[in-house]
Amino acid sequence: MSSSQITALALFSGGLDSILACRVIADQGLRVLAVKFVTPFFDYDRLAARSSYQAEMFRHYGLEVIVEDLSSGYLDLLHHPQHGFGRNFNPCIDCKILMLQRAKEMMAETGASFILTGEVLGQRPMSQRRDTLRIIERDSGVGQLLLRPLSAKLLAPSEAEARGWVDRDRLLDFNGRGRSRQIALAKNFGITDFPAPAGGCILADPILSRRIARIYQGHSFLTAQSLTVNTVRLLFIGRQFLLPGGNWLILGRDAAENAQLTAIAQAGDTMLLMTTRPGPTALLRSVGPRRLEAQDSAQTESSAPALSDDILLAASLVVRFGKKTVDYTDAVTVTVTQGEHLSEIMASPLLDGSFQTWALA
Ligand code: SF4
Repeated sequence: MSSSQITALALFSGGLDSILACRVIADQGLRVLAVKFVTPFFDYDRLAARSSYQAEMFRHYGLEVIVEDLSSGYLDLLHHPQHGFGRNFNPCIDCKILMLQRAKEMMAETGASFILTGEVLGQRPMSQRRDTLRIIERDSGVGQLLLRPLSAKLLAPSEAEARGWVDRDRLLDFNGRGRSRQIALAKNFGITDFPAPAGGCILADPILSRRIARIYQGHSFLTAQSLTVNTVRLLFIGRQFLLPGGNWLILGRDAAENAQLTAIAQAGDTMLLMTTRPGPTALLRSVGPRRLEAQDSAQTESSAPALSDDILLAASLVVRFGKKTVDYTDAVTVTVTQGEHLSEIMASPLLDGSFQTWALA
């Protein structure tokens, strides 16, 4: 088979290294199909904007990109990643292994002959050490199918090189954390508008990852078993509260978050908003057994009183965080939607100092 008939499937983060790895192989005349994996912890919004993202990647980098949802399996992986966590709640080695396993499964349907990544030997302390790179190859089952074009000359030849699909002499020997060689190579390819190296993974973020860690460590009102993609997405939007009745309240901070909350709402959620004054959309969600534990025993017999009390509090918080007007302390109409059922209640803003202890970190 000639090189032009060979397809390489690339793990594509969208960062400079993955762009360059794809371009180095495409430059040898092979077809490169870049797969962008997403989960609610990284790049999930790409799913809803697939075509514009694909068009953007093609326009900027000449790359054919597909977007794949890796969520299924990822939430389970976080229970006990075999290779542990990095500095935060980032299971980078197991994450790479999962991506490669999924890429290997995709080879038949995409007609790919091998897989490539933009990994650079020694660039990251946890996942890009020489021994770790070998563990990733072994545990993902991709073995010699995996080519790392940016450091290939420092690694054992992969199948693509051994079979002559790619010319090893035209691969690279990048090593370590420096970026100057990547930037020079990008310039050679005419790439100037590449993203900054800092990634957008919530699990690697020192503050945001704590919210997820607490859930998996059993220190949250949510349980890891109850976690879904929808729940994870809610965790990172807006102002968050756990109300005294044990219900989870999220208030949008701007129009974009209000729209997100409306889109994420699911059956059983209560939605609140003011119709006569600009302000937050609120989503109130019952969160299961932990909610009942948080209530007085008298209340645990029925969830209804706690919910109705919390709806009143939620309405008062919607008014509190609404656009302030001259008659700010006046009661305002708040529309409450529960499924098909619509009602209106009058609510006054909660006073500062009365609700801060309900805020979630
Ligand atoms: S930073 Fe996040 S997306 Fe990247 S390898 Fe680690 S866990 Fe996976």
